[in-house]
Order: sequence, then structure tokens, then C-alpha cells
Amino acid sequence: MSELARTDPEIADVLEKERLRQLNGLELIASENIVSRAVLEAQGSIMTNKYAEGYPGKRYYGGCEYYDVAENLARDRLKKLFGAEHANVQPHSGTQANMAAYFSVMKPGGTLMSMSLSQGGHLSHGSPVNFSGQLFRIVPYGVDLETEVLDYGVIEAIARKEKPNVIVCGASAYPRTIDFKAFMEIAEAVGAYCIADIAHIAGLCATGVHPTSVNVTHITTTTTHKTLRGPRGGAIMCGKEFAQAVDKAVFPGMQGGPLMHTIAAKAVCFREALRPQFADYNRQIVKNCRVLAETLLDGGLRLVSGGTDNHLLLIDLSQQGITGLEAENALGCAGITVNKNTIPRETRSPFVTSGLRIGTPAVTSRGMKEAEMRFIGEKIVHVIRNIKDDAQTARVKGEVVAMASRFPIYPE
Ligand SMILES: *Cc1c(COP(=O)(O)O)cnc(C)c1O
Repeated sequence: MSELARTDPEIADVLEKERLRQLNGLELIASENIVSRAVLEAQGSIMTNKYAEGYPGKRYYGGCEYYDVAENLARDRLKKLFGAEHANVQPHSGTQANMAAYFSVMKPGGTLMSMSLSQGGHLSHGSPVNFSGQLFRIVPYGVDLETEVLDYGVIEAIARKEKPNVIVCGASAYPRTIDFKAFMEIAEAVGAYCIADIAHIAGLCATGVHPTSVNVTHITTTTTHKTLRGPRGGAIMCGKEFAQAVDKAVFPGMQGGPLMHTIAAKAVCFREALRPQFADYNRQIVKNCRVLAETLLDGGLRLVSGGTDNHLLLIDLSQQGITGLEAENALGCAGITVNKNTIPRETRSPFVTSGLRIGTPAVTSRGMKEAEMRFIGEKIVHVIRNIKDDAQTARVKGEVVAMASRFPIYPE
């Protein structure tokens, strides 16, 4: 019996039930992934025991000699992975990374131009319920409502009119390639700083599967737990000229002691990402997403922008007359985990929505390939077409569990 099971059977029970949920279900939430055992080991380690405020070689506490080694490894590996001049691996999350990036180049009251949340942006890009929307004047941009892709001409016109201090690009629900160079040129034309938030597509950018923003925009922020397949956390990359401002904005600007167990796990993740297999993995994520998109289109569903270039797609359910919420619940009952999502011409509230967001990073980590994507796509179509029929949903659940359990998460 494990120590946890002996001392805290209630939490041990939660862990076991969650393990079975992850094993038997299909995780299609585009922002999620499954980390390696090595990442789990580093994150669940004694590196959680110590304070290490400051940076390697300049800590406010004694006894940090090994912590310095871990953080330097994390920084150096991240720089190597993206070819970045400077890296900060301390942000506790992607939102914290964005906060520090904003504060490194802009004061409260400044103007932040960003993709609106309802069209694919992120909470930390200026939502009124987030610090970003409360501390900055927000100028939103969106997608073209006909093509459902970014229109750089329109974005440039907004920037010229509004003169933002910062333009942030990058999204949580955008299925197409983002032209970071175009954003940087627009920013330069209006004297703004350009921050790319590659939280979702970091793995794709690191491996050349999507064009990178590093050394293109002024600053790049990311999470480490999405396509990078590491522990939950954030990171920032930039050129030397922003290094000091970024480091100061992270600590002491908005965080105290770094989560050194997570930083050790980030280092492990970055080493894994430097291996050639990681590029194969990211190529497979995108291949899988294309096959899933084709299967859904063949099943008569409409996809926002007509398809996908990356790891995710958006289904527009308005022609089916059902809501994102209803579809999310029905698919959940069938063992397929997805999230409801607003679509460009949304008419419903964010708690109901007309769309679904679906991503392939986690199922690709389990080793699933094109054949499994066709299976998953067919099951999604079947559940949506028979949304009122609980017996059909239950039958699909049986098939999903049988398929998923052929791809164990931690086989040993
Ligand atoms: C996921 C995400 C973040 C950060 O998320 P956290 O939950 O704060 O780690 C930031 N930006 C974008 C675009 C994201 O998708």
C-alpha cells in the first residue's frame, strides 16, 4: 500500500478514480496533454521543499546550489529548443507569463490590442473579469466573419487608429496558422511592442510544424503543459534587450518564490522536447487533427474556417440546432471529453455556446494515429446525430472504453 493510501485514503481514492477516468476516456481538450513519468517524478520530488527567491547565482536564501543547477538547465534547454537569447522559466502559469510580459513593456493604463475572447483569444488578453482587462485599455481585434480567419489588413487599420502600446497575438481557439511576422510588422509600423502568446502551439513552434514567434516578435510567452507536454506552468522568451525588464517583472514584480519542483520538471520536459521523436510527435498531432477534421466534415458537420492547420478544430453546431453545452454533455457521457466553445458569429452565452473545441495533443501522446482519429470522428458524429438517444450514447461509451484501454497511459 502506498504512503498516501495509508495516510490519506480519501485523496488516494481521488487519484485512483482519476487515473481510471484518464485511462478509459478520450481526452480531446485542446489545451491538455499527458506528461511522461520522468516529468511526474521531477514534479513530485523534494524540490518542493525549498525557497529560492531570486535567480541562479542571486538568491535571497542560502542552500540553493542545486536549485541553481536545475534552473540553469531549464533556461538553457528552453533557449536551445527555440533558439532564444533569453528565457525565464519561473512564471507559475501562462497567465502569469503574460502579466509579466505586459508589465515589462507597459504600465497600468496603457493600451493593449488583442484578439477578443469570443473569437479565440485568452482571458489574460484583456477580458474584463481578468487583471488584463482591468489594468489596461483593451482594443480588440477578431477574425473576418466570412472567412473566419485573421485579416491582417483590418488588424493593421485598427492598430493605426488606436496606437496601442502592446499588440498581443496568439490564441486559445484558432485552428489556422498565425502569421507572427505580419503582427510584428504591424506593431513596428505603429511603435508598439509585439508579444506572441504561443501557449497552445509551443510544441508546434519548437519543432517547425508551425512558424515560430521567437526572434520574430519582441517577446514570446508560453505555457509548458499544452503541446510542449510538460508540467503545468509558464515561461517567457525574449531578446537580450528585454531580459532584465522581463526578469524583474516576474520576480519581484509579481511572484515570490519559484515553484522549483515544477522548474525541475520543466527542465525534464525541455530535454524531451529536444529529441527528434518530439518533432515526430508534433507532426502526428497535426496529421491526426486533419484526419479528424475530414471525418467530421464527411459526417456533415461544419468546421469554423472550413478545417485546421494545427492541433485543434472548432465545430459549428448551429446547423444541427443543438448547443455546445448539449454536445459537450452528450459526448462526456460517451467517454469523449471536449469543451463547448464560442464561434465567430456566436449568438449564445459563453456558458452555452454554438460550438465545440477539439484537439489532438493528448490522444496523440497515447500513440493514437489516423485510424483511431477516424474512429473518434465517427463516434462524435454519431453522438451528435443521436443526441437525444441515451441508449446510443451508452453504446458508444462501451466502444470508446474498449478502444481507449488499448492505449494505456502509464503502461508499466
Ligand atoms: C492556456 C493559455 C494561457 C495560459 O493559461 P494558464 O491556465 O494561465 O496557464 C495563456 N494564453 C493562451 C492563449 C492560452 O491558451
